[in-house]
Amino acid sequence: EMVEFNVFFNRIIDRFEMSKSQNVHFERQLPKEQYFVEIDPDKLTQVIDNIISNALKYSPEGGKVRFDMMEQDGYIMIRISDQGMGIPKENIDKIFDRFYRVDRARSREMGGTGLGLAISKEMINAHGGVIWAESQYGRGTTIYFTLPYELDDGDEWE
Ligand code: ATP
Ligand code: MG
Repeated sequence: EMVEFNVFFNRIIDRFEMSKSQNVHFERQLPKEQYFVEIDPDKLTQVIDNIISNALKYSPEGGKVRFDMMEQDGYIMIRISDQGMGIPKENIDKIFDRFYRVDRARSREMGGTGLGLAISKEMINAHGGVIWAESQYGRGTTIYFTLPYELDDGDEWE
């Protein structure tokens, strides 16, 4: 299905912003241009839901979650950053492995199965994109992913 990414993304962020119980601020910096992406909306929603719920789960009281997006060489790159506890450098690539969780004790408390990012990676790859993370331990985490885009929705009858 061809979807305008900004509309799609904003709708998901809105849903979290309205329902979140934590005192965490959302900041969006999304472009005005339209970027059309050929996606399975349910699957992409699952990916973004997991990234945002992780960001909220690990955010401190009063923290900020930032959403932004840029364009490069036929791809859009989406960036979701939090100011949470972060991930130690040696573990950063493992968070995309099935059932991997950085700190077992802490994670048990936080709930979840450790499958979210593994599934997200499969789905982003299946859409022709890549996903990765950067983190400063104790300071915050940023999840990046890319998707190939088109500048129009391909419907010549409109
Ligand atoms: P599930 O998503 O299945 O409910 P989960 O959130 O623990 O469980 P993933 O989403 O795959 O699993 O994340 C894997 C692990 O990566 C998490 O358990 C956590 O240790 C770490 N992690 C993911 N996102 C963040 C983040 N924003 N800040 C700090 N740690 C994170
Ligand atoms: Mg998760």
